[in-house]
Amino acid sequence: MQGIAIRLHDLRKSFGETAAVAGVDLEIRDGEFFSMLGPSGSGKTTVLRLVAGFETPDAGRIELAGQEVTGLAPFERDVHTVFQDYALFPHMTVEQNVAYALKIRKVPKAERLARAREALAEVRLEGYGARRPAQLSGGQRQRVALARALVGRPRVLLLDEPLGALDLKLREQMQGELKALQREVGITFVFVTHDQEEALTMSDRIAVFDRGRIAQVGTPAEIYERPATPFVASFVGTSNLLDAEVARRLVGAPGTYNIRPEKIRVLKESAEADEPDHTTATGLVADVVYLGDTTRLLVDLDGGGRLTAVQQNLETSAEDVAAYRGARVRLRWHRRHAVRLPS
Ligand code: ATP
Repeated sequence: MQGIAIRLHDLRKSFGETAAVAGVDLEIRDGEFFSMLGPSGSGKTTVLRLVAGFETPDAGRIELAGQEVTGLAPFERDVHTVFQDYALFPHMTVEQNVAYALKIRKVPKAERLARAREALAEVRLEGYGARRPAQLSGGQRQRVALARALVGRPRVLLLDEPLGALDLKLREQMQGELKALQREVGITFVFVTHDQEEALTMSDRIAVFDRGRIAQVGTPAEIYERPATPFVASFVGTSNLLDAEVARRLVGAPGTYNIRPEKIRVLKESAEADEPDHTTATGLVADVVYLGDTTRLLVDLDGGGRLTAVQQNLETSAEDVAAYRGARVRLRWHRRHAVRLPS
């Protein structure tokens, strides 16, 4: 059975008047790629720092591998933190940077070097050991920071927006590499990000943070397909809310509903209205955004309400896109795609 790498129980931390972490309960499993996702100021970095031991909680309990570590110093915890700015020593070579933690632990020199080289190979930086950090690109520096984290084989790696400083292309490439690396070494990764796409792409599971609390924990698909709150629906992906009044008309039930834009089919207004288990609504296309692989339509529904629908451009021509502007259309979606949000 899979063990629990990290368990947080009713964790709380305030800075003056600000309740940065306002009661967090969480279990992260051994070997998981786990992301903490949320907007700026939602408390994810503070949780990470509490787990690392850089901050002391006001209340609550932190366990690593079943052992309470709440009061322990950072070096007494079997975790390693990778910061966004990498925190490499500029005067040391890459190899010395990577081997440093082992030196502190008095690992013999030959073993230190062998393990540093192995860690550099894991991040595909063989042959770079003699350089200094200033002689590396941003992506390479990122890899050195990872090698330095991996060399001591911690049980848990904490990563605080490690890709935040990289440009988009490199960032996407590193996302793939980081995920592959995590699979290879099997260490639990806890990854802090405010980028929902990054969290969806990389994670086994995600915790979505909202104002110091966790709004939802689940797999990327669970979070996206079944958002637990309106906040999660809007922060992860495009929210497409049917308010109570529109929902009563279209869904035929009380409450607020969310429909992901790609679940909505856009048809000619004259298309057949009825299809079993489907809901249909007519409306006017208020805006068209052509995105290459998809086209995004904003539709004002007859009788009130507005929905975004995203169409795959499977056989769409430029003329088709132009023809959408101001057109009357029929929208249709399967009933199960209207997901009720607890208010
Ligand atoms: P970001 O993505 O911007 O890093 P975050 O979700 O990681 O945001 P935290 O850094 O955990 O959020 O901050 C949560 C709240 O606690 C914020 O309102 C922040 O201003 C406050 N805070 C964090 N650290 C401190 C500190 N050392 N002193 C005072 N306030 C702090």
